Amino acid sequence: MNESIKKVVVVGGGTAGWLSAALLKKVMGQSIELELVESEAIGTVGVGEATIPPIRMLNNVLGLNEAEFIRETKATIKLAIKFENWRVNGGGYLHTFGSPGRSYAFCHFHHFLNRARKELAETSTIWDYDLNYLSAMEGRFAKMDVKDPILDMPFAYHFDASLYAKFLRKIAEQSGATRTEGMIADVTQDPMTGFIKSVHLKDGKEIKGDLFIDCSGFRGLLIQQKLGAGYDDWSHWLPCDRAIAIPSNRFEKTLPYTRSIAHKAGWQWRIPLQHRNGNGHVYCSNYISDDEALHTLKNNLETEAVGEPNFIRFKTGRRRKQWHKNVIAVGLSSGFLEPLESTSIHLIQSAVVRLLHLFPHDGINESIVAEYNAQSKLEFEQIRDFIILHYHVNERDDSQFWRDVRNMEVPERLKHKIALFRQNGRLINEHNDLFLDASWLQVMQGQGVTPEDYHPMAKGVSEQNLLEMLKTIRKIKQDPVSKLPTHDEFLEKVCG
Ligand SMILES: Cc1cc2nc3c(=O)[nH]c(=O)nc-3n(C[C@H](O)[C@H](O)[C@H](O)COP(=O)(O)OP(=O)(O)OC[C@H]3O[C@@H](n4cnc5c(N)ncnc54)[C@H](O)[C@@H]3O)c2cc1C
Repeated sequence: MNESIKKVVVVGGGTAGWLSAALLKKVMGQSIELELVESEAIGTVGVGEATIPPIRMLNNVLGLNEAEFIRETKATIKLAIKFENWRVNGGGYLHTFGSPGRSYAFCHFHHFLNRARKELAETSTIWDYDLNYLSAMEGRFAKMDVKDPILDMPFAYHFDASLYAKFLRKIAEQSGATRTEGMIADVTQDPMTGFIKSVHLKDGKEIKGDLFIDCSGFRGLLIQQKLGAGYDDWSHWLPCDRAIAIPSNRFEKTLPYTRSIAHKAGWQWRIPLQHRNGNGHVYCSNYISDDEALHTLKNNLETEAVGEPNFIRFKTGRRRKQWHKNVIAVGLSSGFLEPLESTSIHLIQSAVVRLLHLFPHDGINESIVAEYNAQSKLEFEQIRDFIILHYHVNERDDSQFWRDVRNMEVPERLKHKIALFRQNGRLINEHNDLFLDASWLQVMQGQGVTPEDYHPMAKGVSEQNLLEMLKTIRKIKQDPVSKLPTHDEFLEKVCG
């Protein structure tokens, strides 16, 4: 249908709705009219508080003042995720946003360390060479003004999801987006094309549009309930299907990382905010009951609960056509990957960026839709495989859940990545992979995949030089840490 896109309607006012509205309006300006419809009576999912570093790019494009953003959303800094009990009950490791050592052309740093560990009785690990890890463990943070990338310390944020949506709403409205409160009761389609023409509110108001962004959450009001775009179910790889969230009082000391603590049939998140902790238990209902899951969560809160539990059900997978006719699903309506690596808000961001790249200003056509759908399929699958890795490569033998995920068949692409790393530490990433080599390295090593060999280039240096080189890099990484303010000092300074 070759009609130019003048009016965009965003259905839903959760994180997906307001992020889409803010970014689209900020970038497209007066070239589009944008109206967002949301229903306070329905409300939002109310979770989604940990992010990954690309959010800083989004904040830059939106022109956010970082201090104001941190104050208004009660945000804290996130340098890493600490995985506890994932490989074995009692063990732990960090997946940081940093990278170990320094990069060398053609050969990763960890090959040098692997050689030293194998042949020279070196005992340090990749994390001893990672500024993010060292700072996270000391609870320290400052924004590094780095000339040398070796001292880069990538970070993201934890924030209060409802405050974040409000913050985005302010930006969207300042950029010219309008908001209509009301519950959508009906949807009209063009009888010839099946394109959505308008949505009708309970109070009788009709809202017309050329392009609809479906941010209505798990229900997928337009993309699924009206257009039946279909869903690829991935629960055979990621069987957790429920979550319970409860806020609790904050810790005395604000940690600059998320904690992910594996339990009998799932895992618990702990997200430190300025005013409270976000907690939740993601679990598989085939292995434990809701009562047991709630009991486990309450027993592991560490601080007093300050709200009622929020029970959420989901099915892991993705909407088969994320763009169908003149509807684009963004946020929970586009699919769901559990929040183990905090990727959902990023997927909202990248969906809107993709739409901006492919924006059909002079009409929707099949090649644009096909390209959008192919890119989003690949992105979802790549993240899915990284999440499966955490479950699959475990050595826990204390519950059926962990034995079953260890023994399941995993996607070929993931099998291949694990096999290459196991042979001699080779890391490969594909076009546009969100998680790059340092992420795969940390999670594979953390989960116990040990390379049997190392790259021959690591042999090209004498034993003495190799040990000297490792010592020097350790020192370069460790020296700045004690001079950094604590995370709480940083927040105090920003928040006044
Ligand atoms: C347990 C859990 C933990 C999570 N943790 C993280 C995390 O740490 N990091 C992360 O990045 N992501 C996380 N997520 C994902 C994150 O919560 C979502 O991606 C994000 O909140 C976006 O949700 P949404 O806006 O798509 O849906 P919702 O928040 O459900 O919003 C849906 C909107 O649609 C509106 N709506 C629905 N039907 C109608 C109607 N008929 N008429 C009018 N309006 C309607 C609602 O009023 C609401 O405004 C988590 C998700 C879950 C389930």
